[in-house]
Amino acid sequence: MTSDVQDTAGMTADDERAREADATWQDDVREGVRHVRDLDSLPLSPAERAAAQAAATHHKVRIPKTYLDLIDWSDPADPIRAQVIPSPDELAEQEGELDDPIADHAFSPVPRLTHRHADRVLLFPTYQCAVYCRFCFRKESLTSIGRGYSREALDEAFAYIEAHPEIREVILTGGDPLSLPDKALAEIRARIEAVPHVRLLRIHTRVPVALPSRITSGLVAALQGRLMVTVVTHFNHPREITSRAEQACRTLRQGGFVLLNQSVLLKGVNDTVEVLEELCRELMYRLGVKPYYLHHGDLARGMAHRRTTIAEGQALVSALRARLSGICNPGYVLDLPQGGGKVLLGPCCVEAREGETWRIRGLDGEVRAYREVVEE
Ligand SMILES: *Cc1c(COP(=O)(O)O)cnc(C)c1O
Ligand code: SF4
Repeated sequence: MTSDVQDTAGMTADDERAREADATWQDDVREGVRHVRDLDSLPLSPAERAAAQAAATHHKVRIPKTYLDLIDWSDPADPIRAQVIPSPDELAEQEGELDDPIADHAFSPVPRLTHRHADRVLLFPTYQCAVYCRFCFRKESLTSIGRGYSREALDEAFAYIEAHPEIREVILTGGDPLSLPDKALAEIRARIEAVPHVRLLRIHTRVPVALPSRITSGLVAALQGRLMVTVVTHFNHPREITSRAEQACRTLRQGGFVLLNQSVLLKGVNDTVEVLEELCRELMYRLGVKPYYLHHGDLARGMAHRRTTIAEGQALVSALRARLSGICNPGYVLDLPQGGGKVLLGPCCVEAREGETWRIRGLDGEVRAYREVVEE
């Protein structure tokens, strides 16, 4: 069939395929968990059920069907379940936890935009997501702002981007930008493209993980244009790397987009060398997605039960460094409070320095001397 073959309803074959693709992801949303009451049909413990009611007032509950289907209900510690089913532990807030752990608001000159590094801004086209992750560091904004997309809501943000020629990268985040309709995405892309000094469009999204059926040819077309596009996915566990996710990533790669991944280090989900090793390797080798960042758990409220120590994280990444190829290794970062930015926490391999001689630990764990030799 070619695209100009008309069926009886007057649709082209391409239209028909697009309609079917849209119906698929919409079913996935409809048949998933959309409200706390939808959790009633799931085999939760009485404590989880009670917690879900209470926790949902702080952070919404939403889980598309295909992601929900990845849960092994016989395992109370299942890593998929841990990411999306509210836990009683979420209600226990600790001293030192923050509403806005990375100071998005303090660096927001106009609504829906954060500008902390000269050359790039975060743009928030929506504060809604396809899935709500229990560990989200923006859950406070998602609950208190919560609003979706409108063209007018971004007017001030676009005026700001136009007035700041140092901005080269616009990062769509949120919320999940890929939870928006194709039409909204095309509109946003066109407005960014119209600003001549912008060079790159970046999209931070969990959709390829949680709602891979949403990655349709229509979505890809909405994002294609003048700009280099980078899609930063958010896989946290190798069990999320399914044939559907693989198909979604292939569609994005074939659309010409660069794919990177950021993961959050989560206790009880991915805090072992074996899990991280498989995750990073399969991301690169199976999905063609380069592991970019591994985030140390930030200070989101009610998340102490999912945070590791920094020393534990460093031990994990030094083991990864020894086991995985360079391109499979993510940078281990902490997004500092008060807008300090993302700093690399990877274990420092410099053990000591005496003048020109540095004592440096190798990947095999042995410390070797390296004497600098430079022109006098
Ligand atoms: C994370 C972040 C970015 C992007 O940082 P990269 O290191 O380029 O990935 C940009 N602006 C803000 C405010 C951020 O939090
Ligand atoms: S998709 Fe991202 S923004 Fe949305 S709840 Fe998950 S981590 Fe937070």
